[in-house]
Amino acid sequence: KAVSLFFVIDPNIPLGVKGDPTRFRQILLNLLGNAVKFTEKGEVGLSIDRIKPAEEKAGEQEAICLRFNVSDTGIGIPESRLNYIFEPFMQGDKSVAREYGGTGLGLAISKSYVEIMGGKIWVESTVGKGSNFIFEVPFPVDRKLTEKANKERSKTLPFTKNQSVVLIDKDTRRDLLAY
Ligand code: ADP
Repeated sequence: KAVSLFFVIDPNIPLGVKGDPTRFRQILLNLLGNAVKFTEKGEVGLSIDRIKPAEEKAGEQEAICLRFNVSDTGIGIPESRLNYIFEPFMQGDKSVAREYGGTGLGLAISKSYVEIMGGKIWVESTVGKGSNFIFEVPFPVDRKLTEKANKERSKTLPFTKNQSVVLIDKDTRRDLLAY
């Protein structure tokens, strides 16, 4: 497919947060899988932003809220369908279901998981232009893990400060501009 894939992760996100990796991977795979499936050209991306400053209360764990946005430049979803798309067995119109197949369960499962994690999920879409599936979930920060991961990361960075770099690839450029 002539579709490029990009990931942009807010550098202010601590590297160690506590969550359920298996369920989390399922949500992301479902949304990214759909984005690729319903996009013939352009790009599919995942951006992750920290949307609230860390809240620290005495005796409580530090927590952050992350917003995930899976975007695509695909077929989009008609407005009349947007309210139903997260219900089990709901698919786009019949012609979409015939052409692309699928079970109609992925989004319903993802929504349940996000809500069990204490978050919310929604979609913004324009037919013919693309879709954004956005979800927000709170995470407790794991300080020890963050420190360890920071140390590991500093070992693997390809260059130090004050070095000039020429970037040819537009997706890599976008990733690095975040830093
Ligand atoms: P399915 O297995 O049918 O893809 P989902 O629950 O994952 O089940 O999605 C339900 C319906 O939502 C899909 O059939 C499709 O019509 C629509 N949909 C989901 N993601 C997208 C997307 N990124 N672009 C366009 N339509 C989408």
